[in-house]
Amino acid sequence: MSHAFRAASLLATLFASFFAQAQCDRWQQRVKYDMDVALNASTHRFTGIATLAYTNNSPDTLREVFFHLYFNAFRPGSEMDVRSRTIADPDARVTDRIAALEPHEVGELRVERMAQGGKAVQLEHLGTVLRATLAQPLLPGRSTTLAYAFAGQVPVQIRRSGRDNAEGVAYSMSQWYPKLAEYDHRGWHAIPYVGREFHGVWGDFDVRLTLDSAYTVAATGVLQNPEQVGHGYPSKKAVKRPAGNTLTWRFSAKDVHDFAWAADKDYKHVVRPMADGPELHFFYKDTPELEAVWRQLPEYMEKNFRFMNEHFGRYPWPQYSFVQGGDGGMEYPMLTLITGNRRLGSLVGVSVHESVHSWYYGVLASNEGRFAWMDEGMTEYASSKVMQHLFGGDGDPHASSIDGYLGLAESGKHEPASMHADHFNTNAAYGATAYSFGEMLIHQLGSVVGEKDLAQGLRRYYAACKFKHPEPIDLERAFEKQSGLELDWYFDEWVSSTRTLDYAIAEVMQVGDSIRITLQRKGEMLMPVDVMLVGRDGGQLLFHVPLSLARGAKRPDRDRAPFTQLPSWQWTDPRYTFSVKGDITSLAGVTIDPFTRTAERDRDNDAVIFPEGVRGVARP
Ligand SMILES: [Zn+2]
Repeated sequence: MSHAFRAASLLATLFASFFAQAQCDRWQQRVKYDMDVALNASTHRFTGIATLAYTNNSPDTLREVFFHLYFNAFRPGSEMDVRSRTIADPDARVTDRIAALEPHEVGELRVERMAQGGKAVQLEHLGTVLRATLAQPLLPGRSTTLAYAFAGQVPVQIRRSGRDNAEGVAYSMSQWYPKLAEYDHRGWHAIPYVGREFHGVWGDFDVRLTLDSAYTVAATGVLQNPEQVGHGYPSKKAVKRPAGNTLTWRFSAKDVHDFAWAADKDYKHVVRPMADGPELHFFYKDTPELEAVWRQLPEYMEKNFRFMNEHFGRYPWPQYSFVQGGDGGMEYPMLTLITGNRRLGSLVGVSVHESVHSWYYGVLASNEGRFAWMDEGMTEYASSKVMQHLFGGDGDPHASSIDGYLGLAESGKHEPASMHADHFNTNAAYGATAYSFGEMLIHQLGSVVGEKDLAQGLRRYYAACKFKHPEPIDLERAFEKQSGLELDWYFDEWVSSTRTLDYAIAEVMQVGDSIRITLQRKGEMLMPVDVMLVGRDGGQLLFHVPLSLARGAKRPDRDRAPFTQLPSWQWTDPRYTFSVKGDITSLAGVTIDPFTRTAERDRDNDAVIFPEGVRGVARP
């Protein structure tokens, strides 16, 4: 290695680490919860005593803080109730069920009193939000401790959390405690709950749960007192339960942004240690029907975690739990609640999706309300790869995301993905945007930067933004650094508009000794274009037309197949022409986007097939 080369590579290393730090480097708040909670399983009421250490890393002085009180959504007349009864296409799990709840079935969460350094904090309950006016302002860079008591009632399960779900699971306890709202560079996120997305403050939880000892408890974090608990938790010492009818479970979770738990008397608890990954836990109702399916789950999930670790970044926590509960599937840190009465494919599918959220939500904690597509779409993208790894098949695992997005684009209900999740006019548009559009956007990026830089860019994004709240700009910058391209046009226009993509082959003609090909941009959306020429002998020639705005092109050795790079398409031009030496009679066809990676709205104008002997094709 020459001296000059060493200096250059040292400089490159310095720049790489400089850029890695210059991304996702916004300040973020920090919390430390210490909670003692007692649940009365006959009244479904609970009380808690909490100490919350809150560090203000913002440059601002805070005079008030906000908490979420999600259980208050499950009361007639709540914002969630009214939203569900007035939206055009309500979630079938909710409809008017909240309006019909009796007083003993409703949810309730109240903070009874709060003190800051011995002085009373003024509280104002605003439905699912609590405003707490601090006794002393919290200065930038300082911490404070809030001590408070809370009490609530677990609602009958309507959506995600609650008691007695459709499969008879006693307690699905998500979004159940007074949860401090996040304050970031966009200000407070004290969003009233309408049943959709979450955002939380990074921190540590130490939670002690006391309830009837007949219940088995699953929770975020790691159980700290297995020798007093038993219930299937591995313990180094012999299990010795304290006397009495109740049991206290102590869970500790580090570097998470929420805490969920579930409890049932009939849980079977299976533990599967992984040599090269987290300890996997499974909790499900102990019935022969469930056993027949669930006993197959651990092996699939071990493969799932191994694949994700290898391709998307390492899962950072020591444990993960798959828990029967809730009303479908929902992700929480180190744990998911999923309905369990499913066939194997469906059980594996939901388990993959929710556990993959550990990467896109758990570690990369984007504000799900503001950027739902980063949360669900990226989870779908990785899940599709995992499912193909688990079940095989050589088709494109992301094809359905393009179909789903195009269905939305055609439906007339399309709204920009930059819309806050709570504010989409229809549940259908929110769903297709967060899941299908989001997956499509990542998949399609492969056609811009190349497949290898897409995969590496995702790992780069993970490394740069783990344990942060990444935003679209952070994803964009990760891919810009990985590919060397300018990508603002891609993220800006796809995320903030409802424009659609349509490139066409306008003309293929013999001119002298060359075949002249003219492409046309018919849609408003801009993209680079891949063009494949297929000869009558079956030979293929792949060309790439870069978009001028990208200031470069994907590298020929970093995509699915080698290609010849053509001069850039100046973005203001509606047409683009290039020539290839050869005779048109040797050509069988020309195709745009031959790997169908882009969300082309009209595929009919993407291909020209030549009947034998034809000298040229022109389209109006
Ligand atoms: Zn999801």
